Amino acid sequence: MIQKSNESSGGILYLVPTPIGNFADMTFRAVEVLKNADYIYAEDTRVTKVLLSHFHISTPLSSYHIFNEEIQAEVILKYLAEGLKIALVSDAGLPGISDPGFLVAREAIKAGFSVISLPGANAALTALIASGLPSDKFFFYGFLSSKPSQREKELNQLADYPETLIFYEAPHRIQATLKSMYQVFKDREAVIARELTKKYEEYFRGNLKEIVESNHEFKGEIVILVAGSKLSSGQKELNSLQLEEHYQYYLDLGLNQKEAMKMTARDRGISKSEVYKQIVKGKS
Ligand code: SAM
Repeated sequence: MIQKSNESSGGILYLVPTPIGNFADMTFRAVEVLKNADYIYAEDTRVTKVLLSHFHISTPLSSYHIFNEEIQAEVILKYLAEGLKIALVSDAGLPGISDPGFLVAREAIKAGFSVISLPGANAALTALIASGLPSDKFFFYGFLSSKPSQREKELNQLADYPETLIFYEAPHRIQATLKSMYQVFKDREAVIARELTKKYEEYFRGNLKEIVESNHEFKGEIVILVAGSKLSSGQKELNSLQLEEHYQYYLDLGLNQKEAMKMTARDRGISKSEVYKQIVKGKS
């Protein structure tokens, strides 16, 4: 199904970005679309009212959030069927990115309406391009689970990804999350981008060990970026072996026991003494 965005005569759903902390980042086009829409749907109408009043926008406003999105999506679809223009915004940044938006976009597409997104502020990409970490390939994860065991499981699943990893996190969980990341990703390079576009914007660039040990207080809104895995596919395969088999692989290559332990430890991101302990345990 082809959508010719500028030839649509019927209802259109606009996905409109809003600033992530600095009203000067509102785009001219976003203001224009919000002014000309028949209705604006917003995650939190109190937050959006402030923005609308700043830009002298008087379009009627309704709520669209995770607790009413199914019902509101139906209402929006009804309006689209009447040929109306609907704009969807979240509290900040791009709707649909760790924010409501996906469901109504999908339903509107299914029903044959045009869905048009406007480019604009987004915390993940803003942080990525100034992080100093590779930005050619990246993996946006968004929020990890708030449950520690589930969070570690999720991090372990990402351990071999070669792309720069991007996470959102709430300030009250940051220290616990950084500790879990250090356990899984060891001392990989990482960046904490805080309060982007705001007065106290800050980038903490270092490795996870330095960041955790600094006990720096990360207040406000935060993006965490972690360098991707540098393991080659061969190393990944070795890491999927039992530790003894991994160690044996290096012995078979002709390395002595000390060298084989060193290589096994390096691949698995653990200490030589840990490799030694496990090999001795395996033999006893
Ligand atoms: N839709 C938004 C976007 O496009 O970036 C993200 C919304 S999500 C509910 C909110 C999270 O985004 C925050 O917890 C934080 O991780 C990140 N975030 C939002 N604004 C930020 C800012 N100014 N600086 C750093 N991170 C921010």
